[in-house]
Amino acid sequence: MILVLEPNTNPESPEYRVLVGQLERLPGIQFRVHREVGSEVTLTEIYLIGNTGALTLDQMQVLPSVAKVVRVSEAYRVLGRHKQGDDRPSSFDYNGVHFGQDSLHVCAGLCAVDSAESVEAMMKALAEHGQVCTRMGAYKPRTSPYAFQGFGAKCLPYVFELAGKYGIKVIAMEVTHESHVDEIRDALAKTGNPTGVMLQIGTRNTQNFELLKLVGRQQEFPVLIKRGFGITLDESLNAAEYLATEGNRKVIFCLRGMKTNMGDPHRNFVDFAHVPAVKRLTRMPVCIDPSHSVGTRADAPDGLLDIFHVVAQGVIAGANMVLVDFHPNPAKALVDGPQALLLSELGPFLDDVALAREAYLRRAARAKAAQAA
Ligand code: PEP
Ligand code: MN
Repeated sequence: MILVLEPNTNPESPEYRVLVGQLERLPGIQFRVHREVGSEVTLTEIYLIGNTGALTLDQMQVLPSVAKVVRVSEAYRVLGRHKQGDDRPSSFDYNGVHFGQDSLHVCAGLCAVDSAESVEAMMKALAEHGQVCTRMGAYKPRTSPYAFQGFGAKCLPYVFELAGKYGIKVIAMEVTHESHVDEIRDALAKTGNPTGVMLQIGTRNTQNFELLKLVGRQQEFPVLIKRGFGITLDESLNAAEYLATEGNRKVIFCLRGMKTNMGDPHRNFVDFAHVPAVKRLTRMPVCIDPSHSVGTRADAPDGLLDIFHVVAQGVIAGANMVLVDFHPNPAKALVDGPQALLLSELGPFLDDVALAREAYLRRAARAKAAQAA
C-alpha cells in the first residue's frame, strides 16, 4: 500500500509526526519513506510493507497529511501502474528536458567515443537538427577482453565541453562500475556542468543487483536501463524496480532485442511489440534501441534500412525515446561500426521518426475518442 502525502508535507510538522506515530503502531507493518525534492514541490510517498491486507483504504485516507492511498496490486511496487486510483506521474524532468510516457526524444550518437573530432562532428550535426539529447559510450563492456574497452574518464572532459558548446542537455552513457559514476560526477563538476548525463545500465548488467542498488541510491542522474537480452520481461522490470526502491525513480526502460538465433538475420530478435506492454505494466517512459537490435545497415527493397523500419514500428506503438548509433565515419568506428547510421542520414531519420510519431498520436487520439463515446 502506498500513502501519497499532501505536496510539500514538512517532516517536522506535528501532522507528519502524528502520522508516523500511527504507522509505527500498526501491527506487522513496516514502512519506508520516499521523498522527491523538486524545484517547486516536494513529494512524499510512504510505502507500507507487510500485512497491508488488513488495512482499509478509508482507514488510511483519514490519517493526517495523507492525500491519497493506493493499494499495490502489481509486482513492481514503485514503478508499476497499479489498478486502483494510481495517477502517480509517468514522467520526470532532468536538466530542462521532460521525459515521459507522453513525450519522444531521440538520443542519436556514438556507440563509443573514439576521438574528439568524431564527438564534435556528431554534436554539431545534432545541434543543426535541433536535438538536445545524445548517446556517448565512454565505458564499453566488450565480449573480448582484447577489444577496445572505451576511453573511460580520459574522454569525459572533451565530451562534456563539446556537449555544452552545442547545447546538448542529456548524454546517455553506460556505466559498469561505481567508480564510473564518480568519474562522471567529477568531470561534470570540473568542466562547470555544461551538460547532463543519463546513466545507462547495459543489457549485460541488467541483473547486476549491486550496481543497480548503487545507481538507485543516487538521485542526481536519471537512469536508462536496458532489458536483459536473455531474461524475461518480468525479470527486467524487477531489475528496474531495484533502482526505484533504492530511491531513484527517474528511470527509463529500454528494449534492445533478445539474444536468440530466431532473430536472424538481425543481431537480436526485435522486441518492440513490448512498448505498449511496458507502458501498461509500469509508469516508465519506454526507449527503443534499433541499433543493437538490428545490428546491420541492411536495407529493404523499398529503400529503407531495417533500422528505420524497426524505429517506425516502435514509435508508432508509442515509444518515448530512441537510442541510436551514428558515426561520422562508420568504417573507422572502434565499436559497432556496421550498425551505425551516417551523419547524412540524421535528417531523413528524424523525418521518418516524426512521421511515425504523428501516426501514433493520431491513432491514440482516435482510440481515446472511441473510449469516450
Ligand atoms: C550500448 O548501448 O552501447 C550497448 C552496449 O547496448 P546493450 O547493453 O544493449 O548491448
Ligand atoms: Mn554498441
